[in-house]
Amino acid sequence: MRNSKNKKLVIILLGPPGSGKGTQAKLLAKKFKLEYLGSGDTLRQRRKKGDFTGKKLIKVMTRGELVPSFVISKLLTDKLEKLKNLSKISGFILDGWTRILTEAELIDESLDWYEWQKNVKVILINISSRESFNRLTKRRICKDCGRLIPWVGEFKKLKRCDKCGGSLISRADDKPKAIKKRLEEFKKETKPVIDYYKKQGRLIKINGKQSIKDVFKDILKVLRK
Ligand code: AMP
Repeated sequence: MRNSKNKKLVIILLGPPGSGKGTQAKLLAKKFKLEYLGSGDTLRQRRKKGDFTGKKLIKVMTRGELVPSFVISKLLTDKLEKLKNLSKISGFILDGWTRILTEAELIDESLDWYEWQKNVKVILINISSRESFNRLTKRRICKDCGRLIPWVGEFKKLKRCDKCGGSLISRADDKPKAIKKRLEEFKKETKPVIDYYKKQGRLIKINGKQSIKDVFKDILKVLRK
């Protein structure tokens, strides 16, 4: 998006698991022609290499633990380097990359290095841990195309994937034990990230306990300011 000041836009999205970050990120990417960079998707892709790190990622992620910051930082900087080769890019969205304080600091450094620091918006999609737990235990993923079907609104009614017709199953880390772990990690590691942005006056908080449409509307409102 080139906003009113015609500056390229970087959006950093954060929120508890199940808050709808991915869904909103993809809507925003489409609307403003932004590149979408999701940490979860990138890690799942990286796992497929089947090397030492690939195998270890499967274990760590299935348990609901966070991946070390150096792995995240390496994956992200590789992507940011590649983005520099795109001449017509309007900006990008970072979905889920800042879950540990070290990551937030490294990402700020990377954005400076790659000269993206001028128009960075940090958006927190907020839901309670009870809501998060409830959504994650019930959400599904398409066995064939990997599409994540959130437990919100009309998606609750779906019996098969609305994109490819594939059957819907639960994601390996959406089991109660792993969900509990992810929520603990959020409290322990990601809350300090939220405070980090808050202290700098950069945090934009959005109520995530609304329909997908209303969350999106609220985000658009704050981006227009
Ligand atoms: P997601 O698909 O965003 O729910 O992420 C799935 C899993 O990937 C998380 O539960 C973590 O194990 C890992 N992960 C994703 N992003 C990060 C990050 N920024 N830092 C550490 N681990 C991450």
